[in-house]
Amino acid sequence: MNKDLLNRLIRYKKIATKMKELGFIRVFSVNLADALGINPVKVRKDFSFLNIKGKNKGGYDIDYLIKKIDEILGKDGVEKVIIVGVGNIGSALINYPGFENVGIKIVAGFDIDPKKIKEDAEIPIYHLDKMKEVLKKEEIKIGVLSVPEVAAQRVAELMISYGIKGILNFSPVRLKVKDCIVNDVHIEAELENLIYSVKFEFKNFANKENKDDHTN
Ligand code: ATP
Repeated sequence: MNKDLLNRLIRYKKIATKMKELGFIRVFSVNLADALGINPVKVRKDFSFLNIKGKNKGGYDIDYLIKKIDEILGKDGVEKVIIVGVGNIGSALINYPGFENVGIKIVAGFDIDPKKIKEDAEIPIYHLDKMKEVLKKEEIKIGVLSVPEVAAQRVAELMISYGIKGILNFSPVRLKVKDCIVNDVHIEAELENLIYSVKFEFKNFANKENKDDHTN
């Protein structure tokens, strides 16, 4: 499945879940399309491609839709995730309560700094030495990597050797790994990109406005 479709599916599910919480039983392609800023035809095409069936003019049953999307996403319950490197980013993720709503459970954090270790916390933070034991016991396949740049490659290899198959990488390092999917999150680069785009876009905009003022 291509990444755009995958992203849309995740967002369809998020909206359907919100609507369910609000007491709705059905959702229409136009509702989903509005929320995503796309054409309802695209939503219907996605669903027909994925064999998600709606009722003619009656929209989609929300429970059915969520169940189908979960099936497609391969979710059969709660997905367990670990956080390696409990600095500013790692601890923000550990403290974020929103993951549970989408079936993600942060089960533990790992760090090498003795000051960060809190084994009796609700979400325990263990020394990195315990990672093997915890990963094997809990059969965890997904990890967030939020250690400093210098440690990223080594720690990623360690995670993979203990069974991790997917890493969400917050370090600026391009990880060289095998048998593992890495998704990079480059917050600084994204922000720089946005700042540049805003400057460029609104500079042109301002120039155009000045020009218009001049001609009037
Ligand atoms: P962040 O990037 O999350 O804002 P920070 O600036 O708070 O981080 P960093 O120096 O980037 O701190 O370190 C992030 C965390 O990774 C720290 O808690 C640090 O103790 C931890 N850390 C450093 N090396 C390792 C390692 N090899 N294994 C696990 N954790 C590590």
